Amino acid sequence: MSVATSKKHAPPPELPAPAGAPSWHAISLDEVLAAQDSSRSGLTDGEAEERLTRFGANRLPPPKRRGPALRFLSQFNDVLIYVLLAAAVITALLDHWIDAQVILAVVLVNAVIGFLQEGKAEKALEAIRDMLAPKASVIRGGHRETIPGDAVVPGDIVLLEAGDRVPADLRLFDIRGLKVDEAVLTGESVAVNKNTSPVGDGVPLGDRTSMAFSGTLVTYGQGSGVVVATGAKTEIGRISGMLSEVTTLQTPLLRQMGIFAKWLTVTILGLAAFVLAFGLLVRGYGFSEIFMAVVGLSVAAIPEGLPAILTITLAIGVQDMARRNAIVRRLPAIETLGSVSVICSDKTGTLTRNEMTVASIATARRLFAVSGVGYAPQGGFSLDGQGIEIRNYPLLAETSQAALLCSDADLHEVDGRWLIEGDPMEGALLVAACKAGVDPAFERRCWPRTDAIPFDSEHRFMASLHHDHAGQGRIFVKGAPERILEMCARQRGFDDDVALDPDYWQAQSEEIASRGQRVLAVAMRPTESTHMSLMFDDVESGLTFLGLFGLIDPPREEAIAAVADCQAAGIHVKMITGDHPGTAMAVARRLGLENPEVVLTGRDLDTLDDEALRRRVQDTAVFARTSPAHKLRLVEALQAQGAVVAMTGDGVNDAPALKRADVGIAMGQKGSEAAKEAAEMVLADDNFAAIAEAVRTGRTVYDNLKKAILFILPTNGGEALVLITAILLGFTLPITAVQILWVNMVTAVTLALALAFEPSEPDVMRRPPRAAEEALLSGFLIWRTVFVSVLFMAAIFGKFVFAQSQGASVEEARTVVVNTLVVLEIFYLFSVRYLKAPSITWRGVLGTRAVLIAVGAVIGLQFLFTYAPFMTVLFDARPLSLVQGLQIVAVGVAVLLVLEAEKRLHGVIAARRKRP
Ligand code: ATP
Repeated sequence: MSVATSKKHAPPPELPAPAGAPSWHAISLDEVLAAQDSSRSGLTDGEAEERLTRFGANRLPPPKRRGPALRFLSQFNDVLIYVLLAAAVITALLDHWIDAQVILAVVLVNAVIGFLQEGKAEKALEAIRDMLAPKASVIRGGHRETIPGDAVVPGDIVLLEAGDRVPADLRLFDIRGLKVDEAVLTGESVAVNKNTSPVGDGVPLGDRTSMAFSGTLVTYGQGSGVVVATGAKTEIGRISGMLSEVTTLQTPLLRQMGIFAKWLTVTILGLAAFVLAFGLLVRGYGFSEIFMAVVGLSVAAIPEGLPAILTITLAIGVQDMARRNAIVRRLPAIETLGSVSVICSDKTGTLTRNEMTVASIATARRLFAVSGVGYAPQGGFSLDGQGIEIRNYPLLAETSQAALLCSDADLHEVDGRWLIEGDPMEGALLVAACKAGVDPAFERRCWPRTDAIPFDSEHRFMASLHHDHAGQGRIFVKGAPERILEMCARQRGFDDDVALDPDYWQAQSEEIASRGQRVLAVAMRPTESTHMSLMFDDVESGLTFLGLFGLIDPPREEAIAAVADCQAAGIHVKMITGDHPGTAMAVARRLGLENPEVVLTGRDLDTLDDEALRRRVQDTAVFARTSPAHKLRLVEALQAQGAVVAMTGDGVNDAPALKRADVGIAMGQKGSEAAKEAAEMVLADDNFAAIAEAVRTGRTVYDNLKKAILFILPTNGGEALVLITAILLGFTLPITAVQILWVNMVTAVTLALALAFEPSEPDVMRRPPRAAEEALLSGFLIWRTVFVSVLFMAAIFGKFVFAQSQGASVEEARTVVVNTLVVLEIFYLFSVRYLKAPSITWRGVLGTRAVLIAVGAVIGLQFLFTYAPFMTVLFDARPLSLVQGLQIVAVGVAVLLVLEAEKRLHGVIAARRKRP
């Protein structure tokens, strides 16, 4: 079963030409702002609300979906249904009217069930799509705010940075190195350099460099733009009729099972033809009799319920993961998760809380400790445990001023709580500045920013250019200490600038890092008043080093537990961070990673060739000062060693590593759209613990798929063997075709479905990962299927013969057989719930809610089958005595005991094999 949304979108509504505004790309920014009735400081909340009502949500018309009627009809498009329909027609022609009606009723019930299940699966996927709705950064009421992408309105000022999907059509201004990949719109895969000057009126879309279009991807730089069109009125809205969005509940395993089921069906139909011929020619059965038997055989043997149960199991897994904050974007990931053997995780925000607080500041001669928690700007400074008077240490204020001017974050108070907007580390710098008596708003007014080089984990620094109102220019730089030291020749001394003392700063960095704090350096240099745009060359040398910040970012408690869980499950956890090796090592130790003291840095990685890297990669848990390009090398090295790798990432540069990993995992909150789109899975709360949960669910889902297969195949096999044996040996059939239909229908919607809801087995996170190449239809699975099929056949024949020997009529003996079959399935369900562990335990016998409901329902239905008078008419059933009932249950118990003995034996043999 696949859940597919139609390829076609609704045609975009007719576009009115924007009133009075010709081509946004061709006119000046001021004209655009005037036409949109907006300004560089954005709309107010009231204006935005009013515009949202006027222009509607910033959404493309949803793709047209298959209507319910079509979805219902598609349920009949199945080989087994064709067989059943043909059987119904022939049965009717043979004058077996009741049987024909029963068959048709079953076909109908099957279609209704399929329809409902498919609806449920589709809903699960839809909910996940909603969870992945993109966000946008806008200026509202003069403040930067993050809002849902569909709340963007014309006139909004949108801020763009590398990794963002542009949320609406924008006329650009204030851009820094902005490059945009417009492939979705123009087909051109090379990113376009943007600028802010108007371009010719008639130029094609790809040349409108003063615009950023909705749906395109920012690959580099930063920029701002005013929204000129939203929703269907955007350029992508105009062509959305051509876009397609098809999501299918399909995975390699499901595909494999689908192919297997098709082959099985063909084989069974061939076998059925043979049995028909054999029955007619060799055994001399009448056509009507042997035809019905063959229909029974086909119904018995074709595992028609299997694909639906597997899909439902996966859909439940998807929902389960979403509830635990892991949103699966590509379903095959669920299967792969079960075999993950290495998880490579980012540090900041994933293993740690990303709630930063400045805990120390180092200046030319001193290392200050900073007190206070969270983002509230309350706290003070101390030296060797003694509180100090800030006034006496002017370098503290100067260093803080530089750090805050070189930051984009905002700090504000809402209902007594201090919140930051933007990067938490920059937020922490603002808080520290406040503690040092520096007012961020005042400083930003005095020193407005003229230009900036945005932070990038590749170059590991950020720089900004400012001019005060007298025209003086200053450049501030903040970044990783080694990087900033390279740029500096001097350092700020107590009275004056002195020559740089790299050893001192190195030692201070090491000291701060060894406390598990992230280290950040700050530097500055004056510049001319005419210097208006900032280039890399401007900061490469000649700067004055001001000081170092040490920031604490505590590990997440739940991440510590999750790391332990993963390691117990045979999964190696590796931390890949852009941070200082000392900081990384201290955090790794607190997280309980294996070998935290073995650290490889990005520089080490550059000196190792592929072969050497492969040798080192397995035993190293901490990789520090890495850039995104290293992540790709690490994934490849691990995969070359046979590992199945899950890798996290957030930036646009992480996309190649996420794509290459077996399971790419993007951060939902701090992750860029580019990373999310490259990933198989998105963590809604950026939390490592969700990965461990996802692995657990992945393993459980795989187990449940196996259990569903192991439940359905042998029950079908048992039924089929009974019929074939009876026909070949010329016996009376122990069960009729419609009775088999009954059994299969009632057990498929109850017992088999209950397996989709199975919780994890207790040892699910204590066993090593499944080998990636392990085939689902393993020797174990085939053996179990054959063993259980034969066991079922023996029990059914035994009961049939025994009932008749006790004087039962054929009809009564068949009723015994139908009930025996269902009872066997009930007991087998309890056995199959634990693939290898014993089932006769307290936990096993108690079952789960789903199992108990299913068993209750099936028992109710069997009473109806056996004792309701109309069942006698429909299925030729006869009431049974209490003794007969008890005998049936006894057979169930006996079969369970045999099944458990087999499990035990299997365990003993497996243990022997393992021993040398
Ligand atoms: P991860 O999230 O992968 O664990 P990270 O977030 O710590 O790693 P990066 O973001 O690449 O790694 O940061 C690496 C270093 O760059 C930091 O240790 C810090 O010194 C510096 N840095 C980080 N953010 C900024 C910023 N906004 N401005 C200037 N420097 C920064």
